Amino acid sequence: MSSPDADADSLKIERKRLRQHLGLGPNPSDPPAGHPPQIQPLFFIERAPGSREGAKCKLPTCAENIMPGELRLAMNPALGGGSWNRSSASLYHIRCFEKLADFTQADFLDRIQPLTRRTWTHRGLNVGIERLVLEWKVTIGRWIDKRDGVPDEPEDEKRVHADFVALLRKAGSSEYKQRTIPTGLPLDEYHYLAGPLAPFESDGPDDKEEWNLFDTYLDSTVNALDNLHGLSTMLQHWSDDVELIHKEEVELDEQEGAAKARLSKKAIRALKRLSIIPMPQPSYSRSFYA
Ligand SMILES: [Zn+2]
Repeated sequence: MSSPDADADSLKIERKRLRQHLGLGPNPSDPPAGHPPQIQPLFFIERAPGSREGAKCKLPTCAENIMPGELRLAMNPALGGGSWNRSSASLYHIRCFEKLADFTQADFLDRIQPLTRRTWTHRGLNVGIERLVLEWKVTIGRWIDKRDGVPDEPEDEKRVHADFVALLRKAGSSEYKQRTIPTGLPLDEYHYLAGPLAPFESDGPDDKEEWNLFDTYLDSTVNALDNLHGLSTMLQHWSDDVELIHKEEVELDEQEGAAKARLSKKAIRALKRLSIIPMPQPSYSRSFYA
């Protein structure tokens, strides 16, 4: 076992290495390092593929492997590397990477990408995770802009995106009546977002308690900015619930049984719908890394 002081020191060093890998100065107050990286590193959220022993987590203070089926963060290019190479990405538990990256800064936040049906290699993320990660990114981004005094989008700009925003936020609700497809959005993507990926689950116009994915799992308050582990906590909560609803009653222990009993029928229906893992769409998969 290493001492807490040694752990704190090695995390400090690793944070500086990460900042420099992204082309930033070693400390937040430093000017940017000499050259920006030739290929901008991205942080992919993905599910660990099958393997016997899992993969080593790159956080120096973490001794646990990332096991098959767990969510992980893959940084590509790898720390210290300069080119895309799937086999050499730096892999982390999401919770561990949150100790290095400062997601309250756009330099880090903007690099998060869920690896989903739109991306070239499909890593088995269910659609709930895709929706949650993207919405979390937008939410934190909005608080960052508020904190930094970045002016809001002008009203006419907002109107241009209004159809798309409504589709992303309101689909599935009985109040969502939109029939216009947002400009530039492919028809199949529109139907996908309006149906299988909709954040609302509703029993119809009389339903006064519609279920909502983001309200259930995502902290949209300003406190989210102070929560170092907001992303991993949200994804853990979601994944725990998905696991619960796919277990038979006899497989549940007492605690799980109680947790499952707290889920409404509507919530279970929504969790089933949003826990599907769609096949990648070939039209997207070719262009992504081009
Ligand atoms: Zn770890």
